[in-house]
Amino acid sequence: MKKAYLEIRPLWTVLACGLATLLTPPMASAKPAPAIEVRVETTLPTAETNRPALALDGKQGTFFKSSRSADEHDQFTIYFSHGVKLKRIEVLTGDQQSTNQLAAGVLEVSTDGKEFKEVAKFEAGVSKAKLKSLPVMAVRIRPIKKDQTAQEPTGRGQFRRNRGSLVLREIVLDPAPVVAKVTQAMCVMVDTSEVPELDAWGLHAKALCEEWYPKLVALMPSEGFEPVLSTRLLFKKDKGGVADTSRGTDINIAGKYVIGHTNDFGMVIHELTHVVQAYPGPKDGFSKPGWLVEGIADNIRLFHFEPNVRRPRIDPDRAKYTDAYKTTAGFLDWVESHYDKELVKKFNAALRDGEFQDTLWQKYTGKTVDELWKEFTDSLRKSV
Ligand SMILES: [Zn+2]
Repeated sequence: MKKAYLEIRPLWTVLACGLATLLTPPMASAKPAPAIEVRVETTLPTAETNRPALALDGKQGTFFKSSRSADEHDQFTIYFSHGVKLKRIEVLTGDQQSTNQLAAGVLEVSTDGKEFKEVAKFEAGVSKAKLKSLPVMAVRIRPIKKDQTAQEPTGRGQFRRNRGSLVLREIVLDPAPVVAKVTQAMCVMVDTSEVPELDAWGLHAKALCEEWYPKLVALMPSEGFEPVLSTRLLFKKDKGGVADTSRGTDINIAGKYVIGHTNDFGMVIHELTHVVQAYPGPKDGFSKPGWLVEGIADNIRLFHFEPNVRRPRIDPDRAKYTDAYKTTAGFLDWVESHYDKELVKKFNAALRDGEFQDTLWQKYTGKTVDELWKEFTDSLRKSV
């Protein structure tokens, strides 16, 4: 059933609102303009069910809302299936209380779907542009870095409470085209501006993410799970370590590390796995074991992305299954091949639902994790 779900709704064409969305009734003219299809690409993850299509449904009561705040690395772009002659575009942001507005940003249009030109700025959360009726192929909303000297509006408490989202209430197109459907496509954004010598590396990493994201989603399904359709690869000049994942979508990569390890694309897949995992934080009676989260990320990396690379050696006398990363990854692979081929899938689903318990080892294999670890390390000693 889970498989069917993925086959029916391939990641690249997830129907953002399900059914055809009419902006306005077609004009009663003799020859109505052909309906357009709209593809949305945004780096902003959706909060709850406030999908991008709701910013294009002609209703100001429904809106797109992001699950995190927007910054200058974000974008919300709509691509049309064919050129649309527009006289005017108006973008309304913020909710009814005027919170979650786009404080600083630009509205851009493209006549070829590639090059964008600024047509208006955002003021008080609203942007209005008059156009020359050129056929427009795409419209982009891009937050910009705020002037550091500009002060936030007063009412700090309210601002603070709401700063975790951007609300796009409506993108008003005039004349309103008939929209046949709105789909959302995967959006991988890469920023190497702090480490420009990694431009080419970053583009390769982006292509890898585009190729592997749907595969990772298929490897880690769970009931009712909707993956975020955006991720950002942010290369940092002064970051120590290797890489980490934050805010659900951001893969922060240490530029210095990549310069010294230019063939380590597996690291990107490990981090991308964290984006797909999307495990909840601690809540009543549940906290995810970090070693298992990292073990699953390395299990996916080593046994699916790098199946032909030599397996890392595990020292049976010193290692523990809680060592995380390659050790836990190797252990999981061994348990899968000896006891339950779906173990990682099952653990992933339980972690994502906030229901993982140690007792699941016994439930799926008939043995405790300690018994399994003993068998695994015994087998390693025999094979030396
Ligand atoms: Zn990790």
